[in-house]
Amino acid sequence: MKTKFTMHTGLRTIGGVVCSVQYGKDRVIFEMGSAYSPVTDVYDGTVLPRSKAWVRDAIRTENIPPIHGLYRKQDLDGFMDLVPAEESDLNTAVFITHLHLDHMAGVGMIAPQIPVYMHKNAVTIERALEATGEGVPTVEREYLPLEEGSPISVGKITLLPVLTSRRSYKQFAFFITTPDGTIHWTGDFSMHGEDADLAIKEMEFLKSQDVDVMLCDTTAFMDNVLLQMFDTTDPAKILPSREIPPGMLDSKDVDERLFAILKEQKGLCVFNYYQREMDEVMKFIEWTEKVNRVCVFEPDCAYIVYKFFQIKPNIFIPDSERYPEDPALQADWFKELLTNATVVTREEIYDNPAGYLLQNSYRHILELFDLPAENGAYLHSEGIPIGAFDPAYENMLRIINRTDFKYITFFCKNYFGHGYPPQVKYFVDEVDPKILIPCHGFNPERLLPKNGVQLLPIEGETYILDDGKLILEKDYE
Ligand SMILES: [Zn+2]
Repeated sequence: MKTKFTMHTGLRTIGGVVCSVQYGKDRVIFEMGSAYSPVTDVYDGTVLPRSKAWVRDAIRTENIPPIHGLYRKQDLDGFMDLVPAEESDLNTAVFITHLHLDHMAGVGMIAPQIPVYMHKNAVTIERALEATGEGVPTVEREYLPLEEGSPISVGKITLLPVLTSRRSYKQFAFFITTPDGTIHWTGDFSMHGEDADLAIKEMEFLKSQDVDVMLCDTTAFMDNVLLQMFDTTDPAKILPSREIPPGMLDSKDVDERLFAILKEQKGLCVFNYYQREMDEVMKFIEWTEKVNRVCVFEPDCAYIVYKFFQIKPNIFIPDSERYPEDPALQADWFKELLTNATVVTREEIYDNPAGYLLQNSYRHILELFDLPAENGAYLHSEGIPIGAFDPAYENMLRIINRTDFKYITFFCKNYFGHGYPPQVKYFVDEVDPKILIPCHGFNPERLLPKNGVQLLPIEGETYILDDGKLILEKDYE
């Protein structure tokens, strides 16, 4: 009996890393996300998901991989001859590093009897999103808690969650031990920002272990990031360094710049953000206090803020069927929010535009037409549609341009959220695994190992872990 390893997806995409580690009948699957690609997403806003075939459709459209023993029989209905979870003799558990969709969008499609582990903060946010209809599509399942430093065993496989971010929903790397060796997955990797010390801690821990296989995030190895730093994409130019590369920024530098922009505004400020990011919420709330404004949220986001921080948020109610005035027509979550929030009216905002920082999501962007635009600014801050790669982005700009709001992007050209390539290289060189699997990026091949070998696995193929090597099962005697 030998350990089997399969990388199902996520080698050359940003996110969507899904891997299996199996020993005998026991199996660990890490992550169940979908690479974020609005350009190729079949659900363009008009096409509706089907109600019975939704899981099969997700496999067909490559949003989740075809994996035996993972999905419900009723959802598969014989599709691709996949063995349903009910008929599988495998003992499977699934583990999620953090709440970004590229790491967990497909989690709700897993059969409910298969345990899924996720940190409790992430579950709180996901449950609030589900209540407002913004959660991942789900069979309505339970989640088991993932705790820093508390290993979880699945038969003879053990998974140790290693904390990589203390922020809102927490983030983890996974260190997996089987009778044949060790496999480490960095999850989203960063060595800058306020959690940089945790990356160093992770590195020191790995140096104290014998790491056979390391899967590493290579998001920042894409053309535009490398060209900005080195004028070349030649991987030989990526020299290991613990420092932030010259000319590039740390998150605190970015925050200072953005706060300075907010401070100089003289009218109403409208902003967007990624609603799974509770740190962003706290940042905006703290900033508004410093500039004597009031931070106001749309009901959907306010509900998550209320559930996560247990605070009474200020809300502005857009003109929408989602938020009926008649209590008989209001959704439960909306009712609950109304009794736990302070409503800020349009009139109050008109009376003192400079007194507010107002959150607005893309679907309610037409609200800009009836808000005070004089000296007003629209701060685009990581909300969807994020950038020009999303067809909706042009439309967002078109609408803003029909108003007098000034468009200000909070996107900083010389800041990148994932680890800068020299820092990733430093981390990899220090750990020096026997096998390096660069992934979670458009150009994984640019991350080179120090002494070990680089493996770009064939997705969906099974490899055998034997004596520090990964050998294709079909070539293994
Ligand atoms: Zn990711």
